[in-house]
Amino acid sequence: MNLILIGKQGSGKGTQGKLLEKKGFNHISTGDLLRNLEAEEKKKIEFYSLQGKFVPSDLVIEILKKRISKKDDKKGIVLDGFPRNIEQAEALEKEIKIDKIIHIYISDKVAVKRLIGRRYCENCGRGYNLETFPKPKNDGLCDICKIKLNKRKDDTIKAIKKRLEIYHKRTEPVLDYYKNKQIQIIRVDGEKDINKVNKEIIESLK
Ligand code: AMP
Repeated sequence: MNLILIGKQGSGKGTQGKLLEKKGFNHISTGDLLRNLEAEEKKKIEFYSLQGKFVPSDLVIEILKKRISKKDDKKGIVLDGFPRNIEQAEALEKEIKIDKIIHIYISDKVAVKRLIGRRYCENCGRGYNLETFPKPKNDGLCDICKIKLNKRKDDTIKAIKKRLEIYHKRTEPVLDYYKNKQIQIIRVDGEKDINKVNKEIIESLK
């Protein structure tokens, strides 16, 4: 079963994607794929991402195609951060069959608050939030590795506002695209706590 997680930045797509991975899915985040590019290529994409803009679709589509062509024995793919516009949705259709869309919705106000407080540990990858949840036990330090937490370079107020503006303009229409294709869209309230959201998603897949 192949799934797409759609939601504003900060809605918890990455968190829920990782939890679905524990249930046997292959979680693929295009944001992570782009951040893991080699230095020279990364420099090119940061020109866009640090301003909160989309990286050109042809580049993202190419990277994604390469990633999904790798065979595995997982339950299916969970896409996070892709497709972000209609062009990408059309390109995806040629590659894999999508079974369900999971739309995690939150208000813009909550999205901004979460993104401003978002931190991560470079060593173990664990995510934290200074404004919401999960808060680190010692402000600014990873509970496990005890090293200083990092902030994503694109989590600046200016880039956050741009990302939300583009989400409304370019990504929200993708929901209508799938609705018209009669693909089931599961709506989940992303302002609830992480485990509740996860439970709702798992229930909806049964
Ligand atoms: P994310 O980790 O999903 O918030 O993505 C971080 C940044 O990577 C975005 O702000 C974009 O600049 C870029 N990006 C990720 N996925 C895509 C995509 N499907 N299309 C275009 N740009 C993307």
